Order: sequence, then C-alpha cells, then structure tokens
Amino acid sequence: MDLTAKLTILERMLAIYDRFVAEFDLACEKYCAHCCTANVTMTTLEGYRIFAHLETSGGLERLEGMAGLSHPDRFRPEISINRMADICARGGDPPEEQLNPEAGPCPVLIDDACPLYGVRPFACRCMVSARNCGQTGFADMDPFILTVNDVFLQHLEHIDAQGYTGNFADVMQFLANSENRSRYSTGRLGLPPEGLVSNQPVFVLMIPPDHRARIQPLLKEIRSIQV
Ligand code: SF4
Ligand code: SF4
Repeated sequence: MDLTAKLTILERMLAIYDRFVAEFDLACEKYCAHCCTANVTMTTLEGYRIFAHLETSGGLERLEGMAGLSHPDRFRPEISINRMADICARGGDPPEEQLNPEAGPCPVLIDDACPLYGVRPFACRCMVSARNCGQTGFADMDPFILTVNDVFLQHLEHIDAQGYTGNFADVMQFLANSENRSRYSTGRLGLPPEGLVSNQPVFVLMIPPDHRARIQPLLKEIRSIQV
C-alpha cells in the first residue's frame, strides 16, 4: 500500500473515532492542556501527516531541534502496542514501560493551545476525560473508551506496519531529515534508530470479554474502509 492510501485510511479512521467519542459527555475544551505532555507517542505515519501539514501551511521551523526542546527523560516506548499485545497473547511478559510524570509540557504547546490541533497524533486525540484533569489530577475515562483507544492504536500501527512508533519529538526529529522522509515514503526503512521502535501488523486485538459485543459496530466500520 502506498503512502497516500495509508494517509487516506488514517483520515477515515480518525473521522470514525471522532464520531464515536462525540457521543460521550467530556470536560475537554480549548486551553485545557494538562494532558499535553512531552510523553505523547505516535507512529511515523501520523508524524508524516504533521510534516505534510506544516509543509503546506508553513511552520516547518517548529520541527527544528524538536528532540532538544523536549524533556530528556520523556517517555520512549521499548515496544509497540501490537508487539505488546502479541507478547501478552503468547503468555509472555512485556517490558515494564517507565513514564516520567515530570516530563513537562509537549514541546509544541503554545499558551496552552496546540498549534497542530487538526493534525495532532491519535494519542492526543484519544486523551479525553469526563472531568477536568486539572481538578481531579487524573483523566476520568469510560473503560469502553480505553478499549476503543487501544483498538484504534493497534489499527493505526497496523496500517503503518513498515514504519516506527516513538515519542512525538523523536518521530518528528526523525522525519525532519529529508533522507529519512524519502526512505519512509518509499517504504525503505530499515531497523529503527535509537529511541524509535519497529511497528508490526495486528495479530491479536486487546479487547476485554465484556466489550467484545459492544465494539463490533466500530470494528465493522474500521474494516469497511476502502481506498
Ligand atoms: S483530557 Fe483532561 S487535560 Fe486533556 S483536555 Fe480533557 S479534561 Fe483537559
Ligand atoms: S501535539 Fe498538540 S495536542 Fe498533542 S500533546 Fe502536543 S500540544 Fe497537546
């Protein structure tokens, strides 16, 4: 599948997700940015979408030195979500991921607003809460939303199975390099550089038994996407 087709699938999946999450009563609003931390992760496909947006709208300079602007102890995944699901399904122990709660704000956040809002990573889009996290200290998320989030993350990795997953800043830093972008857009990526991990297809979806029936309509929608 070529990159244009992957980007089209990504857009359609995000539209499905937005319709799904709009059914919930959420406290999320503009200038509420407690969830905008340096720990956000994404796939290379999502990073490429951001790059393409900045190339068209201006603002590519935001990518320069992105990794240097982010907290040095930002979250960097050791494995992708599909790899983790695979290990768990086989009865193995996935590595314990360490997330630094003191990693500070996302490096692109300006005055508590996201300049990339329309093309923000799915990990930002799916971070929602029924109550303001600033008041509660945590996100109050319906367990079914958590399950749906995992399923979307797994499918997003699946369509970018030849790409990488990593911290937002590391993926953007990687794609800021024209040679890396060229290798990515032509499907010629090799082993990931330090800080990024390889994606893989979905082998098993992480759906708890009590959500299996409820999630079927969404799965049907995702699987009916055609480009
Ligand atoms: S997830 Fe929490 S911090 Fe983020 S916008 Fe929603 S209420 Fe605000
Ligand atoms: S990319 Fe935007 S929405 Fe995501 S964490 Fe950064 S500022 Fe927040």
